[in-house]
This record gives sequence, C-alpha cells and structure tokens, in this order.
Amino acid sequence: MEDLFELDKKHFIHPTSSIIQQQTDGAKSIMAKGDGIYVTDTNNKEYIDAVSSLWNVNIGHGRTELAEVASEQMKKLAFSSAFSTFSHEPAIRLAKKISELTPQGLNAVFFTSGGSESNDSAVKLSRHYWKIQNKASKRKIISLKRGYHGVAAASTSITGIPEFWDMAGHLMNDFLHAETPYRSTTEKAIESLQSMIEQETADTIAAIFVEPVQGAGGVLIPPADYLEAVREICDFYNILFIADEVITGFGRTGTMFGMENWNVVPDAMTFAKGVTSGYIPMGGVVVSDHIHTVLKEKSKGTLFHGFTYSGHPTAAAVALKNIEIIEKESLVTNAKERGLELQNGFQKIKKESSIVGEVRAIGLIGAIELMQDSATGQPFTPDVGVTPAVINALHERGVISRGVTYDGSNILCFAPPLIITKQEVNELISRISDAILFVQ
Ligand code: PLP
Repeated sequence: MEDLFELDKKHFIHPTSSIIQQQTDGAKSIMAKGDGIYVTDTNNKEYIDAVSSLWNVNIGHGRTELAEVASEQMKKLAFSSAFSTFSHEPAIRLAKKISELTPQGLNAVFFTSGGSESNDSAVKLSRHYWKIQNKASKRKIISLKRGYHGVAAASTSITGIPEFWDMAGHLMNDFLHAETPYRSTTEKAIESLQSMIEQETADTIAAIFVEPVQGAGGVLIPPADYLEAVREICDFYNILFIADEVITGFGRTGTMFGMENWNVVPDAMTFAKGVTSGYIPMGGVVVSDHIHTVLKEKSKGTLFHGFTYSGHPTAAAVALKNIEIIEKESLVTNAKERGLELQNGFQKIKKESSIVGEVRAIGLIGAIELMQDSATGQPFTPDVGVTPAVINALHERGVISRGVTYDGSNILCFAPPLIITKQEVNELISRISDAILFVQ
C-alpha cells in the first residue's frame, strides 16, 4: 500500500500552511473518520476536535442525516442553475429559513460557496448599492486590524492580518484597517475609526466590515458597547455596517448569530461554515430590506455577479437539515450553557498555572492567553512563541486546537462542536490543563 504521508508531501499543496514544514516534518495526522466531538487519524489515535475543525463542524462529526439528505437531493436534482430566471426549491426554502433566523429586517439572501466568496460578494454589493444611487465615489471599505475575512480578491484586502498580504499584496484598492478594540477601549477604537472616516471623508466610504468576535485573530471579544458604537458611526456617516458572521453564525456564541449578543442589527451579514457544519461548502450574504429594495428599484439590467454554485441545490438541502438539527437539539442553548462551563474550566486552569493570563469565552468560542509570568502580567517578548509547544502537547494528549502568536501575544483558541456534553467539556479542560502544566 502506498504511503499516504509520502503522497501528501509529493502532491498536496496544503491551504494556509508552511510548505517547508510539510516537506521536512510531513503531516502530523491524516484524519480518517469522525464521530461527535471526536476525530480519528489513520494510526487510530482519537482526538477531541476542540476547534470544530475550522470553527465549522457545529453539529459534530458523523451525522448520517446530512449524508442521507445529500444523497436524496443528488438523486433527485444534484445541480441546477439559479442564474437568470431559473430557480429551485432547496435554495428558495433555505433563503426563507435564513431570513427567519437572522435579525428582523434582514430578509434576502445571496448564496456563495464559502466565507471568502461571501465577503467578496458583500464588497461588490455594497459598492453597487451606492453606485446605483448616484454615489459611485463611496467605494472604500474599512475593517479592523486582526480581522480575518478570507483569501479571495476583496476578502484578502479586508483581512487585517498582514501575513495574508505577503503573498501578493492587497488584491484590490481602497481598503483601510482601523484599530481593533482588543487590549484597548471602545473609546480609542472608535476614535481611530472616526478619524479615519473624517480623513478619507464619508462620501468615499461604502462599508465597514466587522466580525462580532474576531476568530482567527485570536478570539477577540469586543467590549460591551463597541458594536453599538460602530452602528452609530455607520448611521451618522451613512456607511453600511456589514457583520462577518462566518464563524459566529449558527449558534457558535450561544445566540443564533453573534450580533444578537449586543442587540445590534447590521445592514448585511455574511455567513458560511456553520450553515452546513462543514459537511458541504456553502455561504452567503443576507441583506436588509432597505438594501434589497434599492437593488430591486435602482438596478439596471443584469446584476453581473454570481457563482456557478450560488444556491447549489445539494448544499442548500444539507444546510436545511443542518439548521433543523441545530433547532431540534437546542444546540444554541447548549452552546450557551456548555460555554459557561468551558469558561469556568479556563478560570480553574488560570488558577493552577503560572503562564495563563486572560481567559475568555462567549458561548462555545474561547481563548486562553499565555504569558511569561501571569503573576506580574509580564507578556512574552515578541520573538517568543510558546503556543506551538502547547499545541503539540495538546496534540499528544488527543486535543486538536489552534494557536495564534503575534507581537508577544500567545493565544490558544477553542471552539468545540455545539453538541459537546458537560462530561466532554470536563474531559477537554482536564487535557488542556495537563498540556499547559507540562509546558510551563
Ligand atoms: N470570515 C471569517 C470570520 C472567517 O473565519 C473565515 C475563515 O476562517 C472566512 C471569512 C473565510 O471563509 P472561507 O475560508 O470559507 O473562504
């Protein structure tokens, strides 16, 4: 039998990975199967999937109901176009369902195959929205430093993590990045946003993109009044507020959508990941009734934006079943309740360890920040990254997690599947504690 590890090195260019490391160390695990919160590799080692793979397997692994619904839809009508005047039932029903779940006033959906395509679509839709109202100068997009929005043309440029610009630079013009409220205050972050708008002038700015919780940046939860302040700024300057709910959508933060935690309604939301729990690619943009009305009344001719797989019938059928499971099994409530237990567990670890600084969680997305010395609050120097050692120790103990290291911040991120039980949370906490105490 061919060696999968060798074939992997030879033929598979991994996404967002070090090619050098792949060539020298090879893949750490080749995953073979999944069940509930667990995944198992080809050596039969079982792991808790403590970040739901890529923050997306919300209903957990091995849900045959989704496979069955995909099979039924494929046999009936695997694919059909939604371009022009064609349509089909799964996409129509999913658009209606998502409209019912999103905050009041967001009722029309444009479908894509993932988060990057969703954010690119939202950039184009927001520029188009202004252009058809004779405000074509409103083209600039503001987002936040440390924000992650994907890797397509516009979404690479919205992303506020400079490493993602290394490969090809900003792929589109007119993208600006304001201060994040992380390790800061609402006042300072809003000041940065406002002075940017004043400097550029509001008649050049189309939209502000914000993740309710910055995920890939290191699970950065905004101060209580921050998102409301962004809403006020957008209203005052006549700028669209677009919430990137790619991670936070579909229950992750203990509410159906992340923005609900702050009672703030954006003008549009982008989503992906949790809409199908990763069982099949899908994403989209939900827009407000106002945007939809402007599009309907002022667009001339064809909207020249659409993917072959916008509203893919099989993906839509899987999404509908996935959402049915989230609702039937009360997974949003479970995320809230288990999230509190996760947070308590983090606090317990903080007490035991000399290198754990701030811990935080909202629903089932949380982080543990590591410091040189938590007693004095001394961070690591920017060139020291201790997270890879802890991530390794976790891997050895059967936990898949994710580390973020930058500017002295060493952050461990966790986002287990929303089906996790109390007992499984305890098991996860015990393994995390063990790994940190081993490394410190
Ligand atoms: N937006 C956010 C908040 C994300 O976390 C991600 C992916 O991690 C994306 C957008 C990009 O989504 P995709 O990788 O499906 O293109």
